[in-house]
Parts: sequence; structure tokens; C-alpha cells
Amino acid sequence: KLYNQVQDLKGSIRVYCRVRPFLGEQSKYLSTVEHTEEGTITIITPSKYGKGHRSFNFNKVFGPSATQAEVFSDTQPLIRSVLDGYNVCIFAYGQTGSGKTYTMSGPTDLIEQNQGVNYRALGDLFLLAEQRKNTVSYDVCVQMIEIYNEQVRDLLIVDGVNKRLEIRNSSQTGLNVPDASLVRVTSTSDVIDLMNLGQKNRAVGATALNDRSSRSHSCLTVHVQGRDLTSGTILRGCMHLVDLAGSERVDKSEVTGERLKEAQHINKSLSALGDVISSLAQKNSHVPYRNSKLTQLLQDSLGGQAKTLMFVHISPELNAVGETISTLKFAERVA
Ligand code: ADP
Ligand code: MG
Repeated sequence: KLYNQVQDLKGSIRVYCRVRPFLGEQSKYLSTVEHTEEGTITIITPSKYGKGHRSFNFNKVFGPSATQAEVFSDTQPLIRSVLDGYNVCIFAYGQTGSGKTYTMSGPTDLIEQNQGVNYRALGDLFLLAEQRKNTVSYDVCVQMIEIYNEQVRDLLIVDGVNKRLEIRNSSQTGLNVPDASLVRVTSTSDVIDLMNLGQKNRAVGATALNDRSSRSHSCLTVHVQGRDLTSGTILRGCMHLVDLAGSERVDKSEVTGERLKEAQHINKSLSALGDVISSLAQKNSHVPYRNSKLTQLLQDSLGGQAKTLMFVHISPELNAVGETISTLKFAERVA
């Protein structure tokens, strides 16, 4: 009962936990107990890590067998909100390898049934817009950017030249990164093409050992403008779909130079995000948006009338239990 009241107060922020299936890793399987509907997950920690049971509460828990369709089903109401003129943020949080990209995009050998949240969200958006076409005319445009070492880069450039972009708030158009490519889309296949281009641009400069995608935040932003056909009223909504950088802590004694700098930037921006969401959840009057590029970018889509959903990912490996607990602690702070 009390838990429900607390949830109500926190209104528009929801946190879902997703446990990746075991893929036959070197390490052993971590014992967990999931209560899907109640939203509780219990991690059974072996003696080496301080034997015991630790439970965490979320709005929902998706166990290892949850399908992409099941994971998306609770997200659908948010898509309607975007068309109604609300701003929405959907995040994937977790250590590298925990399934963030799987949830947001899907596996690399993408078949329809494995499509992630991004594709399904856009699919629904076009479907709903079509259903409303006799009353509202919608325009849908997308941007895709990356934040790496606190620098914003455009992922939808075609000529390969990439300039540093600035974030501006309170622009009339609702575009926080006005200089990033803005592409009009009319179907999910348009979006798939753009996401592929974004992925390609993101990989530039990365080698197998130096997978940059795990150390930058990527953000697909969908801008929707609806014009009411009778009154002429314009409604604007936007949706940010964010695949965050890996949340794992790096051992400061082992990394130096570029890696240390990257780690510090990631750490800073993820804690800034945690601070913003938890101060919104606590209804604090001051929300520290200015502390990172990520929170500046998302400022008008976090808090106020906006709706936020965070998917928190954990790995089922015993080796990862330390990161798993710290991920769950982070998420519990914002849940
Ligand atoms: P991250 O983006 O957090 O680094 P990935 O999404 O790349 O992690 O997932 C790591 C690996 O696990 C990938 O090979 C991915 O296809 C696989 N994987 C992740 N989640 C699932 C899932 N729910 N079902 C099946 N395979 C998954
Ligand atoms: Mg990834």
C-alpha cells in the first residue's frame, strides 16, 4: 500500500528492470528470483560476495525469457502521449553487455520479432498518426546524435565531416540541437535506414578492441508536430530514445589517458542523470540539469509534464554480481 502511494507521487517516472538471458558465458549463472508483476527482484549473493539475499523494487521486472514484444507492451501508452503533445524519454541503462542495445534496437541479425523499442515505437507512432489522419495532420522528423566525452556529434551526416554541436534550450522550434541533421520520415523503413546510417557513423574511429558504442550515449530523437485540421492548433511532442554508455566502473589504477578521460565523462554524466531523476522523483525545487550534456539535452523532456521510462539491464553472470548490485542501487535511487 505504502509502496503504491510512493509510486503515485513519483507519477511520470517509471523504472523497469530487465534480466538478460544466460548466453553460456564462462562465468556461472547468478541466482535471482523475479516477481514480474510485483516488480521485485531478489539477487542471491554467494558467500564470496557476502552471502545473502538482496531485494530491489521497480515498476516491473522482465525476466530472461521476456520477449521484445512483452517488453515493449508497457511502453505503448507513451507513444500516444507523444502524439498528444507530451515529451517522452526512454533510456537503457546498464553495464556493457547487459542488453541495452538489444532492448532499444535489437540483435544485429534483426528479424521483425526481435525488433527493439525504437522500431516498435516508431511503428506505433505511424500507425496511430494514420488512425488520426482525419482530425490531425502529423509531421515526423528525427535526429540522431551521440555524446562522447561531453561532446555532441551528429550521427546522421552523410559526407562524413562531423562538427561539434551545441545544445540550446528554450528554442521556439523545440529543437535542442538545432544544427544536427533533421530528417523527415514517413514510414518505419525510413527510420530503419536512418538508424543504420547512425550506427555506421557511430562506428567510425572504433576498432574491435575499442568499441566506442559502449562509451558514448546515443540518442534518437523523434520530433512530432500535429496540426488539428479543424482548429489549426499546433501540438508539439518529442521522444528521446537513449542507449546510454556502459555504467561499469573502471579501475582507476588500471586505466590511463584516453580511457580514464572517457570513464570520468561517463561517470559524471550518468551520475548527473541519476541526480536529475531522483530530484524530480523527490519533487525538489532545484533540479540540477546543468551538470552534464546529457541532462542539458534532455532538460525539457525530464520533469514537468514529460514522461520518463528507464529500462535497467542486468547480466545473469555470477562474475558481474558487483556491477549488478551497483546498477540496481542506482536504479532504486531513481525508481
Ligand atoms: P549492451 O548494449 O548493454 O552492451 P547488448 O545489447 O549488445 O549489450 O547485449 C550483449 C549480447 O547479449 C548481445 O550479443 C545481445 O544480442 C545479447 N542479448 C542481450 N539481451 C538479450 C536478450 N534479451 N535475448 C537474447 N540475447 C540478448
Ligand atoms: Mg550497446
